[in-house]
Amino acid sequence: MPDTAALSYRDVELAAERLLGAAHRTPVLTSTTANKLSGGTLFFKCENYQRMGAFKFRGAYNAIAKFDNAQRAAGVLTFSSGNHAQAIALSAKLAGIKSVIIMPQDAPALKVKATKEYGGEVITYDRYTENREEIARRLSEERGMTLIPPYDHPDVIAGQGTSAKELFEEVGELDILMVCLGGGGLLAGCALAARALAPNCKVIGVEPEAGNDGQQSLRKGEIVHIAVPKTIADGAMVTHIGEHNFEVIRRSVDDIVTVSDAQLVQTMAFFAERMKMIVEPTGCLAAAAALHGVVDVRAKRVGILISGGNVDLSRFAELMQTLDA
Ligand SMILES: *Cc1c(COP(=O)(O)O)cnc(C)c1O
Repeated sequence: MPDTAALSYRDVELAAERLLGAAHRTPVLTSTTANKLSGGTLFFKCENYQRMGAFKFRGAYNAIAKFDNAQRAAGVLTFSSGNHAQAIALSAKLAGIKSVIIMPQDAPALKVKATKEYGGEVITYDRYTENREEIARRLSEERGMTLIPPYDHPDVIAGQGTSAKELFEEVGELDILMVCLGGGGLLAGCALAARALAPNCKVIGVEPEAGNDGQQSLRKGEIVHIAVPKTIADGAMVTHIGEHNFEVIRRSVDDIVTVSDAQLVQTMAFFAERMKMIVEPTGCLAAAAALHGVVDVRAKRVGILISGGNVDLSRFAELMQTLDA
């Protein structure tokens, strides 16, 4: 069992200090139309406007900021389906250290391109037949680089939690906080912040219908593994929640719900049309659950984490075409 008894809101506060001046304090937006549709008062925390386009910068930067000189000299290594890759590459560049990123062959082109542009060395693998964690471990041994995984790491969790810390500081108490769920870095970090800053706030995770391993895990009281889910939410295509993450989630998250890919596309269209913003499919998970009544938010003050905005324009257009079908 990982030593997560040590992971607390204090770690989120320390992460916030490290991120000061490095990460953007992202805006919190509201929409009268969203409130009418859902019946609640929704506060959208827009991490699609974070550096590199997603909250992942927070955790990656926090982890690298803690490196000692030997770690800095050897550099950082990770595996990621996209946004964590960019987050590590950018954070490494800012820290002046080397980065190696192991990415799936079918990762969105925009994410691969951005990772290379940030100076990351990209190594690809087949996500349906190869084990990225094994490849990463072997490379980290060969090159002495420090592995910072996308979610199962205390410093990553603490960094991600700074997004919810900012949200509560800005809008005060909330009845419900809704957060998308892949491996559980964002949800666990946000739950730490919620428990400290808004003890009465319900924390709800939202994952794709096709990959409800988190929901199964919370109900069963242990981490459930599934096959790689087929969903348009590429940031949530994980087979299981992380161990450090589950330790926090099981004690601090009230429920985990799911939404369909069709609901994600409708939510992308809503954001584009009504709020004039581009949100990637995974970034729509929490909002989709509120706007489609999967979680009853009527007469409640609700925080919605919008996790990221990195989607190829051609992919965005293609998904919009499916709306009328
Ligand atoms: C990584 C990611 C997620 C999932 O986050 P976890 O910490 O793995 O649960 C959700 N949305 C976006 C945009 C992401 O990049």
